[in-house]
Amino acid sequence: MSSGSKNEVRLSGLAISPGVVLGKVCMFKQNKHNALPTYKVSGKGVDREKDRLNKAREIVIERLNSLQDTVTDRIGQAEAGIFVAQKMMLQDPAMRQEIDAAIDQGANAERAVTEILDAYESQLAQLDDEYIKERASDLGELKRRLLDVLCDTSPSFQCSVDSHCARGHHRIVITEELTPSIAMEVESDDLLGFVTERGGETSHAAILARAMGIPAVSGISDIVNQISCGMEVMLNGCTGEVVIRPSDETKAANADKIAKRQPLEAVAPVKQLTVMANISTAAEAKLAHDMLAEGIGLYRTEFEFFASGGKLLTEQQQYQSYRNAALAVKGAPIYFRMLDIGADKPLEELDLPVEDNPALGYRGARLLLGMPDLMRPQARALARVSTEMPVWVMYPMITGLAQFRLMKQTFAEMTADIPVGKIYHGAMFEVPSACMEAEKLLEEADFASIGSNDLIQYFFAVDRNNSIVSGDHHPDYDVFWGLLEKLSLAANLAGKPLSICGELASDVQYTDKLIASGIRTVSISPRRIPDIRNAATETKNQQFATTTNEIKKG
Ligand code: PEP
Ligand code: MG
Repeated sequence: MSSGSKNEVRLSGLAISPGVVLGKVCMFKQNKHNALPTYKVSGKGVDREKDRLNKAREIVIERLNSLQDTVTDRIGQAEAGIFVAQKMMLQDPAMRQEIDAAIDQGANAERAVTEILDAYESQLAQLDDEYIKERASDLGELKRRLLDVLCDTSPSFQCSVDSHCARGHHRIVITEELTPSIAMEVESDDLLGFVTERGGETSHAAILARAMGIPAVSGISDIVNQISCGMEVMLNGCTGEVVIRPSDETKAANADKIAKRQPLEAVAPVKQLTVMANISTAAEAKLAHDMLAEGIGLYRTEFEFFASGGKLLTEQQQYQSYRNAALAVKGAPIYFRMLDIGADKPLEELDLPVEDNPALGYRGARLLLGMPDLMRPQARALARVSTEMPVWVMYPMITGLAQFRLMKQTFAEMTADIPVGKIYHGAMFEVPSACMEAEKLLEEADFASIGSNDLIQYFFAVDRNNSIVSGDHHPDYDVFWGLLEKLSLAANLAGKPLSICGELASDVQYTDKLIASGIRTVSISPRRIPDIRNAATETKNQQFATTTNEIKKG
């Protein structure tokens, strides 16, 4: 740490999403409401508490309405349904009566809400019905929202000065770790940037920030304790520098870089490289289409679950999202990557075991095979879409041919009793053992995609999420490019499409090298498509491989 002027503090972190921004900060921290005010009420105090509660209900309803609108726009009506359910619970007459009765007996509003909603929640949680259990966690969420208003704490954002709290609107969000759920909760189109304590360049936080086109820096330890809401900060997502309270000289020196976000301009497809898009929600399919993506080469379906507050989505909800995405790209292929949950993408509602080494534990295809109740609704939702258009299903973290076969067979068993149209089954190359038997795997798979984020992690034993070792998480080793050549050769021999959907594909410094290794299809964040197409047209490799992006017939 060094000081550039009396008050200015310069910190150095990891550049994870490019761009330079200056703005006030919003501290993001979930309010757990551990220290609630408790006092006895009587006489006029009873009416006052009921009045406070009614006002709090109105504010919560307004917030739920606005969340419902944003989630409907950004993700879909099905996912917005949880907010409708929460509104109905809030208006439930029996529950209202019970809370009122607790206040009549002397409890203040915060206590009454906690007592009654906790009682309901634990009763529901004990019942052996998944749907009802889901409602139990909605009650927990509802309680938090009511207490946020009653205790006058800004929802989810810890904010020392109320007037500064803007839930990310025109703010730089500071958080210990940017989880997928937090990124989804920050519902702001004009969010300026992210600074986090943890997270490597290919962490899901970084991928999300880049997908949203938001500058970000990670790896600034203890930042949450060095800064408070409303402070001014400048962050440079290209160098990793974060300046707290930048001086006028620092601002002036960076004025030309602190530019407004560049409007995106699509670049037409080029013959050198097929460029597909990576998306995380159905709503992003439209941006991919607008950027003239030649299909979706990776749909990280687990993000739809995070977007709906970490809840499990039903078969019907998934069907609607997948169908919407397919309609948005108007017939172009979509590689639906089946739920890749576990490790750095835990799903709250699943209550997964605590593991010593989660990256090598219960995740990806292994977790899907172990949790048929999780896989079944997704398999059936995808099968239903396939009755209207071809569907590409891609299995995550495949360890080899045997596991790929098992996934395919399990998918078939789970959908055996419903009509199924054309489905192509693909594997991700993310685990070295699967790459070792690439030839056999590609004989059976209809297509494959290289997940280089995890492949680098497991090939070189270097954690993709750990900013301490992030200097070693890169593809600049001959042995790695040799591996990519082997995969591309195997795909050519089998006549199967092979793409790469990890982050290295969106870095222009590797475009030429990828083409030289025989890889002719990349899948990247929609915002990166113009730069990568421009880079591909400058390639020195004019001998284009025979791999096509069409599934081999017959
Ligand atoms: C990868 O590992 O490269 C990949 C594309 O999957 P994810 O980043 O979602 O783990
Ligand atoms: Mg992966």
